[in-house]
Order: sequence, then structure tokens, then C-alpha cells
Amino acid sequence: MARFAYSADMEFAYEDRLRRLRVAMIERGVGAVLLSVGPELPYFTGYEAFPTERLTMAAITDSEAVIFVPRLEAPKVPKGPLPVRAWDEVEDPIELITRLVGTPDRVAIGEQTWSAFTLALQGALRCSEWIGAGELIRELRIRKDEYEIQALATAASHADSVAARLAREVRFAGSSEAEISARIREILVEEGHDRALFSIVASGPNGASPHHDPTSRVIQPGDLVICDFGGSVWGYRSDTTRTFSVGEPTPKQAEVHQVVAVAQQAAIDAVRAGVACQEIDRAARSVIEDAGYGDYFIHRTGHGIGLDVHEEPYLVEGNERLLEEGMAFSVEPGIYISGEFGVRIEDIVICGSSEGRVLNQSPRALVVVN
Ligand code: ZN
Ligand code: ZN
Repeated sequence: MARFAYSADMEFAYEDRLRRLRVAMIERGVGAVLLSVGPELPYFTGYEAFPTERLTMAAITDSEAVIFVPRLEAPKVPKGPLPVRAWDEVEDPIELITRLVGTPDRVAIGEQTWSAFTLALQGALRCSEWIGAGELIRELRIRKDEYEIQALATAASHADSVAARLAREVRFAGSSEAEISARIREILVEEGHDRALFSIVASGPNGASPHHDPTSRVIQPGDLVICDFGGSVWGYRSDTTRTFSVGEPTPKQAEVHQVVAVAQQAAIDAVRAGVACQEIDRAARSVIEDAGYGDYFIHRTGHGIGLDVHEEPYLVEGNERLLEEGMAFSVEPGIYISGEFGVRIEDIVICGSSEGRVLNQSPRALVVVN
């Protein structure tokens, strides 16, 4: 997988992230932060650990920051902000990490670290308390810096290209959901993503299941087809949904799509710094409720996005957290009518001081395909 080309500018951004982490460590009395698989390691290093029984882990203290990498994977680590210590097959990475971090009272460990490694470290490091590193890092990651916004915008524009090609060149009728899904994965990479990560294709009645797994169901004229797909660019995720109509939609299909489109726009229009996350959900939901489809909108309006496809902030009733400039999230209302069809429209939005910036530019109208 590709990462950011490491530049002098990026060096500054990584240094800033590390500096802010160390401030958080002091505030929380954390002596060492240990990061392995998941989004936290690339946030500080640009490198995403390969999940394997050979441990990759960054160990960060107030004065040291080193990535321990299995020797055979060291060539994959790009030039980055942290020095790399390749460990050999005869070495024990747990011992190397223990030696570097010493005996801190409190250790924060990445929340997606395999428990086998966590347990081994807990046995080796004599410290009194372990906490999840997310407690320190989520607050740093929730506002995106200019490099992250650039990466998200690049990923979104690649996703837009996929949506355009789906409308233009893919034949839906007669293809199975699984075939279309596989094709979307190919196009995600052809259009510039480093990796394809997911491609939901939910046709006809299957569209009523928001996270439907594509099946061998053959798409028919008259179906609505929800396509929800994403990949990554420099580790940052795209995530967009368009609903296509195979042939002319029925009046009900067209009406439901229109309700979702208006709801999405209402939510986007509500975005600005200082507005509570739940207000964005309410903006979309009230449109759908007023149209009589409130019972059919069965999920939150959106989720944060960055190095994870789902991360904070969550746009959901009960989340009173205020939006801030630089927060990035999806806005994706949907209506799901069991036994009939579903509609969802999803775009990525960056919160600004007085409005939201929509990263996706592909048309949101119901597109009629063959
Ligand atoms: Zn999605
Ligand atoms: Zn999403």
C-alpha cells in the first residue's frame, strides 16, 4: 500500500502530531505509548502495520520514539518521521520494547493490538496501569490537518470517478450483485485508490439491508441498486454511496430517492462549527419523518472518517459534542423498505467555521442505468 510521499512539509505535520501526543501523555500521566495494527501507527508514522504473528510496534516515550519492525518487512517501511529498528528472527521484540520503555507507571496501548502481544507486554512490563491509546489519540485525530484533508479529498475524487464509471459503463441488468461488487473493487484501484476496501451492492429487496453482503442475485430491470464503496489513498478512506435505477423508476422509488436527497442536503446545510453532532442527524431525520418514512431510516446519519472508515465523530441522536473546524464525516441518510427496495446517498463533508465542504462532487440525482 502506498503512503504519503514524505516531504519536509509532512515532516513538520508528523512532528506536530508527536508533540501533541507527548502533551497528552504528560496530561494523562502516561509514560509510554505502544502502537501496532490499526489507524494510530500510520497517524504518527505514515506506516500501516501488517497484521501478523511477527510484531510491528512503535514505542513512544517522552524522549524516545522507535518503530520495531520484523526484519523481512523493514524494506516496506517508507522513509518517515520515526527511526526503524528491524528485529531479527532470533530476537524477541517484546524484550526490545521493554528495554526501550523502562518501567512507566502507566502505559497506553493501541486498541487494535492483538491480545497475544498485549498479554506478553503486560507480563514483561511491570507497570501498574494499562489504558487504551485511543483515550489520548482520538482527540488528536478527530480534527484533520491540511494533509489529511488533502488525502480525504483525493480519495473522494477517486470515488467520484468510480460513481461516474458505474453510471456510464457498467451493465447492471443481467449481472449479479457479486459481479458488480467485484468490478467496483477493480475500478476503485483503476481510478487511483491504493486499495479497494469494500463494495456493497444491494439490489431490489436486498437494498432494504443497509450493510448487505453482495450475493448471486441477478439484477433485474425495475430494481434500485445501492452501491456503497470505498478504498484508501495514503491510508485515508473514501466512502460514498449512490443509488441507481435499472430502467425508469416507479413513482414511489423516485419519491423515496427525492426524500433522501432532500434529507441529505438538509443535513449538509446544517454543518458548521459549534453545531452539535446530533443536530446534523436531526436535520436529515426530520425531513424523512415529515415525508412519512421515519420508521424506515434505521441508522445514524453519519460517521467520522480518516485513517479508519468509521471513527469519531458520530452523527447520532444523543451525541451532544459540538462540531469543530477540520472534522471529517459522512452524511448518509437512507430509507429501507423491507421486501421492496432501499435508497441511500452518502458523501464526505469537512466541517468549516460557517459551512460544510462536500468533498464528493458526483451527481446525487437518481441515475437511470441499463
Ligand atoms: Zn458507505
Ligand atoms: Zn459511511
